[in-house]
Amino acid sequence: MSASTKMPRSSAPKPRPRELPQTDGRESGKATSPPEKTRRAASTPFLLDFVPLQAPDQTRLAQFYERLKEGHLSTTRCRNCGAIHWPPRVACPDCHAEDLEWIDLPSTGRIYAFSAVLAGAPLGMESEVPFAVGLVDLEGAPLRVFGRIDGRPWNELKIGDTVRVESLTLPDGRVFYRFHTPE
Ligand SMILES: [Zn+2]
Repeated sequence: MSASTKMPRSSAPKPRPRELPQTDGRESGKATSPPEKTRRAASTPFLLDFVPLQAPDQTRLAQFYERLKEGHLSTTRCRNCGAIHWPPRVACPDCHAEDLEWIDLPSTGRIYAFSAVLAGAPLGMESEVPFAVGLVDLEGAPLRVFGRIDGRPWNELKIGDTVRVESLTLPDGRVFYRFHTPE
């Protein structure tokens, strides 16, 4: 049992679900259909962006992206208990301290497990299938990190292969990391 499960439930009222306007015309005859333009906007699907916002006013983890822009994969280490976290945190999940420091991680690792994305790729990557994703044990660090593995075709990869960390700059200036097989 974690401490959090013993805490009293908040007495704050739960937010009520927002009522959505009726647009299907099957409700009361008093409802009027919204203009065509509004209907189109309401039916546009909400798309999750798998790369988060990265600026300091948007995330307390902005330094992760700043370091990645300089080519370093990094994470947080707790100054109180010494735990190294992945992904980076704003509070230590082990001792709950907020006194964390940033450390650079090794730039190479070995493939622990991998799989291929043959269909159903995330938005924006549909034209790049097939590609490999996998878990990589970073060299000399107690961390197993998930990411895309570029370089050799997925059906030529092997468990234990060495890969290196690369930073990838997106068209809008944000960065993310990938793994890459040796040239
Ligand atoms: Zn800690």
